[in-house]
Amino acid sequence: MTRRTVPERAPAPDIAGLERKVDAPAGDDMAFRSFLKGREDDEVDGAVRRILSQVRSKTDCRRCRNCCIELQATSRQGDIERISHAVGPSPEDFTGKYLAPDDEEPGLFAMRDKPCPFLREDGCAHYEARPDECRSFPHLDKEGFAWRTLTVIANQKICPIAFEVYQRLKRELWHRGASGAVPFRRRAEKAIYPRPNHRA
Ligand code: SF4
Ligand code: SF4
Repeated sequence: MTRRTVPERAPAPDIAGLERKVDAPAGDDMAFRSFLKGREDDEVDGAVRRILSQVRSKTDCRRCRNCCIELQATSRQGDIERISHAVGPSPEDFTGKYLAPDDEEPGLFAMRDKPCPFLREDGCAHYEARPDECRSFPHLDKEGFAWRTLTVIANQKICPIAFEVYQRLKRELWHRGASGAVPFRRRAEKAIYPRPNHRA
């Protein structure tokens, strides 16, 4: 959901084909998730950021907007005040009209409807003031990628960027040999097991 400089002729993201492409290698995606937890966090995060930068430069979010259609963006008080200041109604009126409190996290609100009521033909109606969550989706460049992969795997069905980054990362770090059986770049000396307090 970010407005970036991309080539004029960047192809429209292939939303229709995402679900089919994600379903096919689902077993691999989960196995790769376990594999990532055995790697150094810095190594995984660095690879994700490098690949993300390449993928973003070739993806035109303006021709996608699937996250604005499929997800209910969340906001906090700071987001609400910023949007209210930009578009007019008081924070209370804005909250009452468009948002519902999150059941589990105090102070967090979700958009009541989807697609998002602020999605327009040419993008977000209050793009410069949009919630932080919209700015950072699909949340790939935060620290600790290896411990947030359940969300990334789920987001692959919605977001072409999430799909492309996860699949490229898989090919790069865990590429299977010709036999299809052995991840040939796994470090032989490193034990592969989940951390006891894993986060996802
Ligand atoms: S607030 Fe804007 S960027 Fe966020 S979901 Fe709605 S239309 Fe999309
Ligand atoms: S779903 Fe992904 S590619 Fe599509 S607009 Fe949102 S962030 Fe961009």
